[in-house]
Parts: sequence; structure tokens; C-alpha cells
Amino acid sequence: MRQTLDRLLDTSTPAQRCLLAVLVSVPWFCIFWIANTLAFFNADISRGIRHDVLLALQAGLSAVLLVSFVMGRWLWARRKLADAVPRANMTVATNIGLGYLILMIAAGTFTSNMSLVMLGVVAVGLLLFSVGVVLRVIILCVAIYIGQDVMIMLGWIPYAPAITDQAFEGGLPSWWWSLWRDTVFYVSWAIILGLIFLLFAKLDALHLQLAKLSYTDVLTGLSNRRYFMERLTAESRRFARSGTPYSLVLVDVDHFKSINDRYGHHAGDEVLRRLAQILIEGVRTPTDQSARIGGEEFAVLLPDTSLAATEIVCRRIADGLRRHTFNVNGEAFHLTISMGVVECRGESIEAAWQQADRNLYKAKQGGRDQAVYSTVTGVTP
Ligand code: GH3
Ligand code: MG
Ligand code: MG
Repeated sequence: MRQTLDRLLDTSTPAQRCLLAVLVSVPWFCIFWIANTLAFFNADISRGIRHDVLLALQAGLSAVLLVSFVMGRWLWARRKLADAVPRANMTVATNIGLGYLILMIAAGTFTSNMSLVMLGVVAVGLLLFSVGVVLRVIILCVAIYIGQDVMIMLGWIPYAPAITDQAFEGGLPSWWWSLWRDTVFYVSWAIILGLIFLLFAKLDALHLQLAKLSYTDVLTGLSNRRYFMERLTAESRRFARSGTPYSLVLVDVDHFKSINDRYGHHAGDEVLRRLAQILIEGVRTPTDQSARIGGEEFAVLLPDTSLAATEIVCRRIADGLRRHTFNVNGEAFHLTISMGVVECRGESIEAAWQQADRNLYKAKQGGRDQAVYSTVTGVTP
């Protein structure tokens, strides 16, 4: 149910979202309209209502339903278009806002629980419309509400004009008024709670998605430099407790520029994506952390791994790459990488990085397609 709703909200066009607002509001307006009509035919209830006000309210609700119907038809014809429908949004949102506002004023805010309905309406509005649209409708409704409140205080109009004193018996709501009030109360609470859970679940999912995005390299899908540095920092802290060494590997593709020059940037990107796969296949995920840290530069963090064990991993990665034939525009070629590797034993991550970088430089100077190993202090085993 939630996934369907999520999909509906995420993939729907602006017209479909607006149409959804019409579709979810119309049944409720119909329920109010029918309940009001039935009120005329029950002797008990009929005594408790002011017929002229209720008729005016029914006329208002009928107008709201008519606007909903016209807008629904207009939106249905445009439901597949991707264009924004700002005027329709404003019309539908205002129509819904005013519809509930007249119901709230007629039955009285405090005696009818209609303010709860209003809260639910705002929550649904925020789900389907932009904040700007909802805010403008709220300002309009609040202005009208304050206006009628002032008029009540001045004695120009009565509070809850649709209800007579007969709706209350000895100061308490009569059976039918209690029933109606409680129904509004429980239904509103159920809807509002559902919406709060839905909105927060959506927020959680968005947070998760954002966190994932902020830690992911767009091109290769590997972790990015930010995430890698966080893992490296955590690993250097862990060393203080465990005392087991870990290794850092910096990887740089050899002569990558010539790939771009020869086959184009697009092909270069494809090669980088494939390289990322080879890197993942060469390490133990998720224990070992591989990341793209720059253009054609990658890094691998091997927790709880000595230099001797890291050498095996590096050889596995290099062999995996050597075995792989890249194919671009029908031309086959091979790639090599150079690696700078350090074994860390509690040194600062800056020192570890610098040493790995120096080792990478040495690997390049030494003719590329090789790895240079040392501890952070530069001692080569
Ligand atoms: P070396 O063996 O010395 O590392 O040679 P190189 O050509 O790999 O070195 P250099 O650092 O000069 O070139 C790196 C190239 O990587 C230059 C740049 O155009 C390319 N590059 C960086 N980021 C991207 C990317 O996202 N996509 C593509 N296709 N190319 C990239
Ligand atoms: Mg480079
Ligand atoms: Mg390079």
C-alpha cells in the first residue's frame, strides 16, 4: 500500500497529483452532504439544526462538488502531460480549503472537531501540492476564519450557526451530535496518524537516499572519496583498540589519458565503470572498502590486513585487470594500473596517505604496472 502510494506520488504528473486531491476530497464532501441531507429527515436532529443555514451550507457544498467535478474533468484530459498546472493546483486547493472551512464555521470549531479535519486536509495538501500553494490557501482560510470569529465576538453572527440549542441537552451534546462529533474525531485521528507515519516514513526514505547519494560516486557506483575518508578515519581509531594493522592502497590507471584521446571520453567512462567492477571483484566486500577518489584514481582500504596479505590482494586485482580485455568500437586493448600501498599502525591518516602517494609515484617512476609497498614510516619489507 505504502509502496503503491510512493510510486504514485513519485511518478505521477502534476495533473495526476491534482486529480488525486480532487478524488480524495470528493467522497468526504459527499459524506458531509449526505449526512446534512439526512439531518432534515430525522425529527431529533431536525430540531437541533437551523434549516436555512444548513440549506446554505448544502448549496456551498454543492458548489464545491461542482468545481471539483469540472476540475476533475479538466485534469483527467491532461493527466498524461508533464506540464505543471499551477492554476488548477490553486483552484483545487482553494476549493477544498473553502469547502472544509464552511463546514467548520457552520458546526463551530470547538463543538465539531472539524479543526482536526482541517489538520488532515493540510497534511494531504502538503503531500499533493507545493508548500507555496498550501500556504496561500491557509492564509486565505485563516483570514476568513478570523473575520467570522470577530463577527461572533461582536455579536453580529452566532457561533456554530447551523446548530441550535436543541443540539445540546443539559449542556452536553445530544446523542446524534455526540455520534457525529466522535465519528469526525476518530476518523480524523486515524487519517492524521496514518499521514504522519506516511510523511515520516517518506522522510526517512529520503534521508537514506540522500545519505547514499552523498557517499556514492555517480559514474562507477563505488563509494566516493568522502565515504572512504570516513572509513579510513574509523579504521585508524579502531587500531587504537585492536592494535591490528590495516592497509591502504592507492590505485592509478596507467596512461588513461591516451584512452580518452583515442576512444573518446564516453569510452573512457565505460572503462572506469568496468575497472570499478574488477576492483570490487578483487576484494572482500563489504569488509574491504574500495572507492573512486578522483578522475581515474581509486583507493582500497583493507582492515585487519598486514602488508603480506595486502600484496596478495593487489596481485589479485592486477591479475584480474590483466586478464580483462576492454572492447571499444570493435578494438580490443588491455589496461594496467600502478599502486601505492602502505601498512598502517596507528599513524595519522594524512601521513599514511602521503606515504601511499609517494609509493604510487615510485610505481609510476619504476615503469608502471606495478605496486610499491611500505609501512607508513617508509620501511619497505
Ligand atoms: P599516468 O600513467 O601517469 O597516470 O598517465 P595518465 O594518462 O593516466 O595520467 P593523467 O593523470 O595525466 O591523466 C588522467 C586522465 O584521466 C586525464 C583525464 O582526462 C582523465 N579523466 C579524469 N576523470 C575522468 C572521467 O571521469 N572520465 C574520463 N573518461 N576520463 C577522466
Ligand atoms: Mg591520475
Ligand atoms: Mg593515471
